Formats: sequence, C-alpha cells, structure tokens
Amino acid sequence: MTVAVLAVQGAFAEHRAMLEKLGTQVFELRKAEDLERHFDGLVLPGGESTVQGKLLRELGMFRPLQKRIEEGMPVLATCAGLILLAKELSNDTGRYFQTLPVVVKRNAYGRQLGSFFYEGGIKGIGQYPMEFIRAPYIESADKEVSVLAEVEGNIVAVQYKNQLAMSFHPELTKDSRIHKKFMEMI
Ligand code: GLN
Repeated sequence: MTVAVLAVQGAFAEHRAMLEKLGTQVFELRKAEDLERHFDGLVLPGGESTVQGKLLRELGMFRPLQKRIEEGMPVLATCAGLILLAKELSNDTGRYFQTLPVVVKRNAYGRQLGSFFYEGGIKGIGQYPMEFIRAPYIESADKEVSVLAEVEGNIVAVQYKNQLAMSFHPELTKDSRIHKKFMEMI
C-alpha cells in the first residue's frame, strides 16, 4: 500500500513519519510528474490553504488530484486540507477541490489565539488528543456526511465516502488511530 502526501507547503513531514511508523510506503507530491507514480491514498496536510491552493494550480496538480478524489481515492485531510476539500467557505471567497459537501469557516477560533488542545471523543475511535492550530471548523454538513467529532457544538471531524477530514492535527500527536483508520479505508 502506498500513500502520497501533498508536500507543496505545511506539515507534511509529520504525516509521512506517522504513516511510515505504521509500515506504509509513502512518497511526497511536489510536482505534476509525481502524480505519475502509483498511490492508493492521499494525504492533504495542514498549513496555509491559500498558499497550497495557489501552488496546486501553478504546478498543474489541481485538476488531476481533484479528479482522483472524485473517482474515490481515499483522502485524509487535516486543517488546511479540510479547507481544500470543502464545498463552501463561509468567510472566504477561495474555493478549491469542493468534493466534501460541508461549509467550513476558516480561522474559526480567531487568528492569533486560535491554538489549543482538547481531549474529546471521536466516533468509532474514542477519546482522542486534538491539537488545534488556527483551525477551521465545519459550520454545517450535508445529510450524507457522517459527523465524527464536535467541540462545543462545532463539527471538527467528518467522513464522507472516501474522504476523512478534520480541523485538528492528528499527525502532531503520538496517537496514530486516525492514520490507522485511514489505512483501513484504503
Ligand atoms: N489557518 C489555516 C488556513 O486557513 C489552516 C491552519 C492549519 O492548517 N493549521 O489555511
């Protein structure tokens, strides 16, 4: 099983390390030619969604990746990755892959003081250490989207078909259960 981690910007190295610890083959997607390699799953890491979106388009990777996701490629998206997948952003004009039918609010906890830790329940996983860094949250989700976690009434993790997305950063903790769940999806 081989997973491609988008590596144009952001916290991709941590995802790579965690997947490798679980015995998964990983390579980084840095340019369009990297898309010619075989992969069974895709990770969209945290970082800055505007920068990632711009680079994806400039590097000619945007449409090919969007097509893969639409065709059912399993995706794990964290933080900025969730923003890239969202159908709608409530407080930003940017739109990216739009494959996940949710409305996302960027920097939803404030820009500067938006980093915090929360231990909360995730459906199918249990109590989980959640690291939030200038995080978005999901304001609303279509009926077919399965809500996996909420923090103070706001949705922070969802699954929809092949897409597993969350506001927080599982790759920054020692807890690999989310990555294991993703491996099971693949
Ligand atoms: N605030 C970032 C954005 O809007 C996301 C933060 C993150 O990925 N940690 O893209």
